[in-house]
Parts: sequence; structure tokens; C-alpha cells
Amino acid sequence: MSKKCRSLPKIEPLPGSLQADLKTCGKPTCRCARGELHGPYWSHRWRESGRQRRRYIRPSDVEQVRAGLADWRRLNPPTRSTRELLAELRRLFRQLDALAV
Ligand SMILES: [Zn+2]
Repeated sequence: MSKKCRSLPKIEPLPGSLQADLKTCGKPTCRCARGELHGPYWSHRWRESGRQRRRYIRPSDVEQVRAGLADWRRLNPPTRSTRELLAELRRLFRQLDALAV
């Protein structure tokens, strides 16, 4: 467990997504047994070197993580795959060929 600075003034871009989970604790007398689940428990999921990672987020940090995710999406708009780009290149070359004739 690393102790991190409690109040991070700077928003760091974060990849991945935020997930809210509602849970039952298993006690038959608990309110969750009647459908009033506990939570939400927040977690941040992202991919790192091909692996799915996950960390739990304190409720007080949710807004910061949300801002970080939005920042990441702004900086990294969805890109087309290399295969799609190659297909488009081939299409363009064919058009060039047609024009050259
Ligand atoms: Zn419960």
C-alpha cells in the first residue's frame, strides 16, 4: 500500500472506465436481502500491457477519476485500427490508379 498525496490538485488523464457496483453482504436480515443493495462501490478499470487492471476508488475520489477519464478521452480520441487504415490506403491507391489511366 503506497500512501499517496491526499489532495491531488492536478487532474491526470486516465485510460479506462469507471464502474459502480451494488452489492449484497449475504446477511439474510440485512436491508440488502430486500433489494436495497449496498454501494455504490466504485472501481476504475483499464487495460495495461494487455491485462485488465482494476482498483477501487474512494467515493471522495470519484469526481477526480471521472475528470481524469474525460481528460484521457479528450487527449486520445478513438483511433481506427491499422487494418482499417491500410484498407483505406489501398482504396485511395486504387482511385489514384484510376485517375492516372
Ligand atoms: Zn447487507
